Amino acid sequence: MAYDDNNIFAKILRGEIPCNKIYEDDFSLAFHDIAPKAKQHILVIPKGAYTDIVDFGANGSAEEIKGFYSAVSKIAKDEGLTQDGFRSIANTGNFGGQEVPHYHIHLLGGEPIGALRSNV
Ligand code: AMP
Repeated sequence: MAYDDNNIFAKILRGEIPCNKIYEDDFSLAFHDIAPKAKQHILVIPKGAYTDIVDFGANGSAEEIKGFYSAVSKIAKDEGLTQDGFRSIANTGNFGGQEVPHYHIHLLGGEPIGALRSNV
């Protein structure tokens, strides 16, 4: 899948639309999900133009990958998610239910998150 420059997270990265920012560094941006599915629902995105986890893992530089996952760890700790635990999700493609085609990790916490799937 080719990267779509007009996806909503690309617009957030360009500053064309606002986000409720939690953290930013050279490689990553984190903000609150606009429609939270848990008491805490954070999205972490790399700044580079990658469609999904497969694209990022295959084509991201070592510096970008290290920077991104270091940011995920820092945010999880700083936001208090590591104390009681949390769930990280990277929805990918059609079957994965990915809506926004810019790689992102969901961090869900602040309460028990429940079963991995509710319909099985
Ligand atoms: P996914 O289905 O994994 O692609 O998740 C996309 C997520 O982005 C959903 O949880 C949406 O609620 C969230 N989202 C969409 N637009 C925005 C926005 N402008 N700011 C923050 N979160 C958003």
